Amino acid sequence: MSTPESNQGKPPRPSAAPPAPRQIPAPRVLPESQAYWTAADEGRLLVKKCKACGEFHHYPRDVCPHCLSVDTEWRQAAGTGTVYSFSTMGKGEAAYTLAFVTLEEGVTLMTNLVDCDPSTVAIGQPVRVVFKPSEGGHAVPMFTPA
Ligand SMILES: [Zn+2]
Repeated sequence: MSTPESNQGKPPRPSAAPPAPRQIPAPRVLPESQAYWTAADEGRLLVKKCKACGEFHHYPRDVCPHCLSVDTEWRQAAGTGTVYSFSTMGKGEAAYTLAFVTLEEGVTLMTNLVDCDPSTVAIGQPVRVVFKPSEGGHAVPMFTPA
């Protein structure tokens, strides 16, 4: 990357180089989601289940979004689900595919589809979790065709 000084008096040069492979930004970890990210580093996908109403929820919260009970517990998810929707962003090496995946447990995660050609992916397709390292942070759950 050029500094402003080296670029003085010249118009910005259009970038001819192909975009670099995408770096996954480190997730922001809150106390109520710490266990989720620790488990992700161990290759396990956790979801929160409410002991009062029996519903699963995601993203992990201390208070159940269905009934406002604080009596929630961690459950290990099966790690399988189906594609609810997806969209590929960017081009070339930097392209990535954002997706909503509905887990067996019934909750829907915003995630990425990885290790696949997005043009072959279909809504409703079975997928399984894989964990990808983020830039200097925790492993991030993403999904690939099952
Ligand atoms: Zn509840």
